[in-house]
Amino acid sequence: MFWKLRRKCKHTAYKLEADFSFDPIWCNDCGWNLDVEDFPLSDQRQEELSQWIVEYGEWIDFETDSLKENGLTLEKQHNEKGMKLFNEVKKELGEEYTIIFVPSTSAQFYKEMEEDF
Ligand SMILES: [Zn+2]
Repeated sequence: MFWKLRRKCKHTAYKLEADFSFDPIWCNDCGWNLDVEDFPLSDQRQEELSQWIVEYGEWIDFETDSLKENGLTLEKQHNEKGMKLFNEVKKELGEEYTIIFVPSTSAQFYKEMEEDF
């Protein structure tokens, strides 16, 4: 995630993307993980976002490090929920904020790994 890190980035464009145990808002220029509390979002929205993060990756079985049977569906549902949240977030932030939604592709990634064996 930090591959494009630039020291002087002012973090003015954002993306909403779920990852393990990070806040879901990132700088879209340098990839820096930003504090959700720094954004003018309602408590309810922040709570929904952290719930969404908790649910991230539930399509992966960590015991065996493999995709659950219905993994692709679970990820799809998570992305749909994310898209809805994103629309609410966008509304609350208003037009001053440039933010995009980046859906998760990790289930797809796992699936492709498994198919390689
Ligand atoms: Zn930045």
